[in-house]
Amino acid sequence: VSETLPVGWPGTGHFSAGLGWPHVSRETLDGEEDPELGKKKKRKLRDLEDGREPSDSGGAIGTEWDLVEERTATSTNHNGAVPTPAADVSRETPDQRGDEALPKPTGGPRVLVVANQKGGVGKTTTAVNLAAALALGGLKVLVIDIDPQGNASTALGVAHDDSVAGTYEAIIDGAPLEDLVVASTEAPTLGVVPATINLAGAEIQLVSMVARESRLAKAIRAYLKNHDVDYVFLDCPPSLGLLTVNALVAADEILIPIQCEYYALEGVSQLMNTIGLVKGELNDDLRLSTVLLTMFDARTRLAAQVADEVRLHFAEETLRTVIPRSVRISEAPSYGQTVLTYHPESVGAQCYVDAASEIAHRGVTA
Ligand code: ATP
Ligand code: MG
Repeated sequence: VSETLPVGWPGTGHFSAGLGWPHVSRETLDGEEDPELGKKKKRKLRDLEDGREPSDSGGAIGTEWDLVEERTATSTNHNGAVPTPAADVSRETPDQRGDEALPKPTGGPRVLVVANQKGGVGKTTTAVNLAAALALGGLKVLVIDIDPQGNASTALGVAHDDSVAGTYEAIIDGAPLEDLVVASTEAPTLGVVPATINLAGAEIQLVSMVARESRLAKAIRAYLKNHDVDYVFLDCPPSLGLLTVNALVAADEILIPIQCEYYALEGVSQLMNTIGLVKGELNDDLRLSTVLLTMFDARTRLAAQVADEVRLHFAEETLRTVIPRSVRISEAPSYGQTVLTYHPESVGAQCYVDAASEIAHRGVTA
């Protein structure tokens, strides 16, 4: 439980070469591995994500364009085990889909912890984009940033310099959440409790504190008593330390994002052990409800293999929607935005809308 992995893993998702899958393409959609092709491909992908035809599609594009086409057409090529983003999102009709009003959870507020101690798998990206999608769907959503890196705060356009009070004050000082919630610029019904770098120290301070595992749970319970909230998302750091344990104790549901890369499932069994411990000792109600495949690259066999394996392990929990590797998704945080407002018509945004809709509808029937 106390193991802490390094914070700030770059997580750019490059393949390791020669892992025994000979047909894996080493190119990425960002064109990172081939600077020559990179720029052209990037432009085409952006056009594609924006629902436009690629600006230079009349040129000699050959395999490049085939790769892009393959990515959008995999729903018909693939053997069916992995509904690809294209299966759920038609890029021709993004504006016909409209903003779906999402159902409120029937069993009261849902507290979801987004956890995976592996770094850079898309925890923060998933937490902020799902939260924004649910909020834009008309629900009241709170994101609590539990990672000292403060990435969720950044992506939601909220200040998190060390003068800001946030999750640290809630956990260590017992400050009420209502004093700490900041409105996000991303949606009118989206609030954020920011994380500052102070939170790094909380991990150590907590060790000697009373009820050290349940301080966040207490703060959230108190807040939910007096505030009408539909969803709370807890964005965890890449570790299984006391901050993550606090989040696991505070939550009802776990959402594990799994990056469609080699080593994807490594560490998940360790996470499952921790979940088992927390469930047995500290939070009976905790259940793994949702697994989301992230950074899926439809051009690679590896991604499909990883996705198949994840679906084998987590048949019930894995969402049909898969999040593709997308330039728009990765660019959005640098503008202090989610992809939902940065490029709402992009494939990445639409996939997060679909994933949020799946989660919301599950929460009604469950
Ligand atoms: P950490 O463990 O450090 O908290 P994390 O699990 O929260 O990382 P993110 O920060 O969400 O992971 O994502 C890691 C990197 O991958 C970021 O640069 C992010 O912008 C990028 N990324 C996430 N999802 C996608 C995607 N679908 N397509 C492209 N890039 C992505
Ligand atoms: Mg993160």
